[in-house]
Amino acid sequence: MTQEPHRLKQALWRNSPHQDARPEAVELSLIIIHGISLPPGVWGGGAVDALFMGQLLGRKDLEAQGLGGLQQLRVSAHLWIRRSGAVLQYVPFNRRAWHAGVSRWRGREACNDFSIGIEMEGGDHIPYDERQYRVLSQVLAELKQRYPTLLEVVGHSDIAPGRKTDPGPSWDWSKLVLPEAMWLSGQQKGDGF
Ligand SMILES: [Zn+2]
Repeated sequence: MTQEPHRLKQALWRNSPHQDARPEAVELSLIIIHGISLPPGVWGGGAVDALFMGQLLGRKDLEAQGLGGLQQLRVSAHLWIRRSGAVLQYVPFNRRAWHAGVSRWRGREACNDFSIGIEMEGGDHIPYDERQYRVLSQVLAELKQRYPTLLEVVGHSDIAPGRKTDPGPSWDWSKLVLPEAMWLSGQQKGDGF
């Protein structure tokens, strides 16, 4: 068995329907860190996985909490890192995942085109788990090795200011260990400025 291209070996493979081809000849340059939990502030359930897999339809528990609108969302990320440190992969890295939305970085719009999106299970105002920082640091090292054109790491709040606040002030950028020639960019304040 050879390793599947554009997948992380240690990740549980989930094939999201929410993906498409990247524009031709695009160079991967950006890593975007997100935070997500469903319902917000609740961990450990299957709602985020169902969201990325397009399987939220008919979830009465979400409807009861006023979150029924999520069922129409078509979103995904390349990776989801749970609070346990478990990694799930929804989209191969050479394909485009749908995580950034309306976004801009260094004058370029549509950041999904040239980025890898990594979701952390969490919320803006609750400390993230130490295991998530450790696992993400390992993942960044592996991604840099496989895709040397990746240079910058930002938060969703950096590319969609005023619209997105994740991963939020509770995300501590100083706990990340970055490989050589990859750096943190953006404001790193996490409050959406
Ligand atoms: Zn986000």
